[in-house]
Amino acid sequence: MKRLLITIDGPAGAGKTTVSREVARHLEYTYVDTGALYRAVAMAVLSEGCRADDDGKVAQILRGLALRFEKSIRGPRLCMNEVDVSDQIRTQEITMFASALSARRVVRDYLLGVQREMGKNGGVVFEGRDMGTVVFPRADIKFFLDADPDVRALRRYRELVTMGADTSLAEVAESMKKRDDDDSSRALAPLRPAHDAIRVDSGPLAIEEVVEVMLRHIAH
Ligand code: C5P
Repeated sequence: MKRLLITIDGPAGAGKTTVSREVARHLEYTYVDTGALYRAVAMAVLSEGCRADDDGKVAQILRGLALRFEKSIRGPRLCMNEVDVSDQIRTQEITMFASALSARRVVRDYLLGVQREMGKNGGVVFEGRDMGTVVFPRADIKFFLDADPDVRALRRYRELVTMGADTSLAEVAESMKKRDDDDSSRALAPLRPAHDAIRVDSGPLAIEEVVEVMLRHIAH
């Protein structure tokens, strides 16, 4: 059977990560979290003390980067220059810096190549913001997963608290709104559904139900 290329885009907190992982697990496909790639770039650029808009220096840092996912029993781990950075890239500082860097052409062009290489043989579920619009406009199946901002903020808040973060719901809602606004209004690859994406509202559904809906679409 043909191994498909599936894209799942949407704003923060819509449940993309859990859903994408589950869909990939059911199909025995590879799961690629493209947000993690933007976060790793942010970590590398931050650690050099470089500004997000210093394109020349950023380009130089990118030339020295090797990013790859490695399978593990805990799910895919992201290695940057052979160091597992999967946990370190989850801080609030890196989250906001990744969003700022993601508006820069030099970063998007670099990651476009990395992502296309990862998808060249199919059998992959890509999670991100512009997978169906820019990176894989000819993907076999595209989803756009969304939910009411209040629902998304609450989900993200619970996630962060579970990870031990000291934050409030209002704080999470505010930074999520800023990130969504920035991601949606940037000139390059803004967050928006592809014209041929299947839209799914994860608000009223449990994660398992979202996965079921997607698997049904994929089977048809
Ligand atoms: O999905 P995640 O929250 O980890 O993504 C971090 C940031 O990376 C997003 O806010 C967005 O600015 C950027 N991103 C992007 N395009 C993608 C994936 C992530 O611009 N395909």
